[in-house]
Amino acid sequence: MDIKEIKEKVERNEYEIRIITVYIFNPKGQSGLMKGEEVKEVREMHNYGDCSFCGGKVKSDKVELVYQYRGKLYIFQKVPAGVCQQCGEKYLTAKVAKEIEQRILTKEKWDKTISVPVDVFPEEIAV
Ligand SMILES: [Zn+2]
Repeated sequence: MDIKEIKEKVERNEYEIRIITVYIFNPKGQSGLMKGEEVKEVREMHNYGDCSFCGGKVKSDKVELVYQYRGKLYIFQKVPAGVCQQCGEKYLTAKVAKEIEQRILTKEKWDKTISVPVDVFPEEIAV
């Protein structure tokens, strides 16, 4: 996909929030979106459970997350999350995930803006 195609997709609103290596934790230990009552339960316990990928212990930490929304990248720093001590997988509570979504949609003044180098791999480099 080239820049022109990306721009067209963005104009057609075809870009959605994509969470990169972040999964929402719910009390049943599955990854996915949570609803009403489950949200409350997680807020109160703050226990991330075991990693649903490798079974490792998940500990509370502050992490940096990169999101892509409508062709823009967003970096969130010092985000409270659970981090698997074995494979590094990150888990967010529904509250934090919602907060991030809210910020992307409504925040007007960001703490800082950085430029990001982009490299488009030439087609000659094949596997
Ligand atoms: Zn893990």
